[in-house]
Amino acid sequence: MLKIFNFLKNNKDETGVRKTTDQGSQIVTRIAPSPTGVLHVGTARTALFNYLYAKQNNGKFIVRIEDTDKERSTKEFEKDILDSLEWLGLDHDEFYRQSERGEIYRKYIEKLTEEGKAYISKEEAKEEGQRSEVIRFKNPNKEIIFEDLVRGEISFDTTELGDFIIAKSVDEPLYHLAVVVDDHEMGVTHIFRGEDGISNTPRQILIQDAIGAQRPKYAHLPLILGPDKSKLSKRHGATSLNAFREQGYFKEAILNHLAFLGWNPGDEREIFSLEELIKDFDIKKVSKGGAVFNIEKLDWFNKHYLENLNDEEILKVAKERIKEKMKSSVADYNEEIISKLIPLIRERIEKFSDLDKLIEEGEFDYYFKEPILSEPEKLIWKKSDKEKTTQHLEKVKEIISENEEKNNPDEAKELLWNYAEEVGKGDVLWPTRYALSGRDKSPDPFTLISILGKEKTLQRIINAIDKLNGNN
Ligand code: GLU
Repeated sequence: MLKIFNFLKNNKDETGVRKTTDQGSQIVTRIAPSPTGVLHVGTARTALFNYLYAKQNNGKFIVRIEDTDKERSTKEFEKDILDSLEWLGLDHDEFYRQSERGEIYRKYIEKLTEEGKAYISKEEAKEEGQRSEVIRFKNPNKEIIFEDLVRGEISFDTTELGDFIIAKSVDEPLYHLAVVVDDHEMGVTHIFRGEDGISNTPRQILIQDAIGAQRPKYAHLPLILGPDKSKLSKRHGATSLNAFREQGYFKEAILNHLAFLGWNPGDEREIFSLEELIKDFDIKKVSKGGAVFNIEKLDWFNKHYLENLNDEEILKVAKERIKEKMKSSVADYNEEIISKLIPLIRERIEKFSDLDKLIEEGEFDYYFKEPILSEPEKLIWKKSDKEKTTQHLEKVKEIISENEEKNNPDEAKELLWNYAEEVGKGDVLWPTRYALSGRDKSPDPFTLISILGKEKTLQRIINAIDKLNGNN
């Protein structure tokens, strides 16, 4: 799956660094996550925008793991990032790890020092035994002006940056140097990243100029905010891709929601597939602010995709989740019942984790297990009594046993409705419903009859009559 980049020997100069002249016309974008944490929605949004721009221009999308910080980077985080991107379908064309590119950085550091654009600086060691040498960039102290596709022209006086450190040694490049070398070597033409990257840009442009790199185009994307307009953080709930994935959100809903964090098509449309985003996304329409991550909006997108899912797909997930949850419950797993529950599941959930919650709260138990009816007097509706209730349940039993099985609520309703109207709706429908579910709240008796089927319905009504009359 991972394609390794082959260096084209012929576009290097005698020191082995990439020449500027043959940048080529292909659009190249990249996402450059540091594996110091799991994939955050902000990084996922950045990845999406870079991916969309590359794909809509027949370009390349690169994933580059920036793992030079050895203490904080882990393989587990790298795996999470790559798995999450793959799950979203943001497939990359090339893949790199900075930790495997030390030799390349070394060449650039050596070249910069040989040319006097960087120098080894003797530092005063703060503590005994600490390193006393670093490599500093010789700042030409010029004004940098760059065009940001989102923010327009941005200018910086770089004097205040001083001669900043670009490496701890020839084998230990720091972030700015590694990023600039990589973007240049990989032919990156567009850098879309979070707005916190703005302050890094002047240093990076200075280094680009020093190594003779072409300047990529920049777009700094708006910070992602929570609904209270403060920076999105764990305080607002889940912020990692894997958390949303575990909760059973569809990747289509997540992508759709991510796309709207800073972008919109400028009209009423809200539902976009990845293909449609590739077609319609426009980096120039990205706003400077107002990227609010709203979980209700994500739920709304998810519900949309859920409504469009066919029954078989819902059934597949429902079977898995119900089976898993039922391991710890007394209920009997029954696939036929699950398939009849699909319309109800559709109605009651926004994401699949809602289904887990319903199961955990026992909301589905009675579909799989006969209720115990430990308080049989609850079968009696308001002013009714035991005798009347027994009589009504006997009648319901008779009607159901004399008719063929009803598989939809409307037909089940037709069976009982006349009798219920005649003698009192609550008097008939309440005990019937309670006999079937054993709960104060549950769907109406017709829905229950249609899901449980004739045999189970009769069994439960007989059981209710017995319980009410103290027969078992
Ligand atoms: N590794 C940097 C980060 O995670 C990448 C910044 C950039 O895109 O240039 O913030």
